[in-house]
Amino acid sequence: MTDKSQLITIIIPFLNEEENLPIIYSRCENVSNKIHIQFEYLFIDDGSSDKSIEIVKNLTLKNNNVKYIQFSRNFGHQKAITAGLKYCSGDAAIIIDADLQDPPEEIENLINKWKQGFDVVHAVRSKRKGEPRIKKVFAHIFYRIMSRITEIHMTVDSGDFRLINRKAIDALNSMPEQHRYMRGLAAWIGFNQGYINYVRDARLSGKTKYPFIKSLSLALNAITSFSGTPLRIIFYLGNFLCLISLAVAIYVFVAWNFIEQKIPAHAGTTYLTLAIFFVSGLQMLCMGILSQYIRRVFDEIKNRPLFIIKDTNIK
Ligand code: UDP
Ligand code: MG
Repeated sequence: MTDKSQLITIIIPFLNEEENLPIIYSRCENVSNKIHIQFEYLFIDDGSSDKSIEIVKNLTLKNNNVKYIQFSRNFGHQKAITAGLKYCSGDAAIIIDADLQDPPEEIENLINKWKQGFDVVHAVRSKRKGEPRIKKVFAHIFYRIMSRITEIHMTVDSGDFRLINRKAIDALNSMPEQHRYMRGLAAWIGFNQGYINYVRDARLSGKTKYPFIKSLSLALNAITSFSGTPLRIIFYLGNFLCLISLAVAIYVFVAWNFIEQKIPAHAGTTYLTLAIFFVSGLQMLCMGILSQYIRRVFDEIKNRPLFIIKDTNIK
């Protein structure tokens, strides 16, 4: 007997995943039948240009537990997750990638952990298959730096595959910010946070929508949204440079005037040129860091909606 008293929403954000969508649906349905818990599916089309949305609409014709939201354009994976959480009606929601890198069979473990009393259950990748080495190396370093420089406790090596219960969904929905690093927000809200380990598969078909440069921008967003450490580094760096240059100036003044040293004729220009390049580079770097934070303030005060819906079958 299926437990009708509990409903789990499976949130599936996708961008051009036509081959994967029917398979993720059927693999999740197998899990639902196995564990006797009812699933509702919420597919979020983040501006696909292939046949993905037709495939989802086809699913809705045959199954009344399938819902979809179609964005008016590509708003990004994190906004798609945000929409899923806003419109889900389950007692808990599970966010899963459409490309089957997160095996749907792990949903059972997520739910078991939830039943033990956890409000948020992160799925931690103990292994990542079929991804470029450089992405894995950077991800490894990034998660570790992130957990050191942020004020909140973030689970290392967990992506967006997680279970969030109603209490936590409501908390996340109350956060209006524009730059949405969902892994950070899910940790920020607190409550009882647990995790499971899993092996991340290779993508079933299609190409990654997170090429290296886009992953880097997600990482940058994570840091500037959840850490003030870069600002502190600028402050210390500025102080350090001032002190050092002051010390060197005093030293040079004393050496040249009182100790009388022989200096090659071109030494001054070389040092000066190097110093100018170094300090102006440093200033640009610091301004770059500052501008990242200012951009965030700018985006927040515009107060635009996070996404725009073109079509949906949610009433
Ligand atoms: N995705 C999305 N919008 C985007 C980029 C990606 O909805 O702008 C979806 C994508 O279809 C997939 C999930 O987000 O379901 C994760 O993306 P992907 O698998 O390409 O990233 P990777 O696993 O390679 O980091
Ligand atoms: Mg993927």
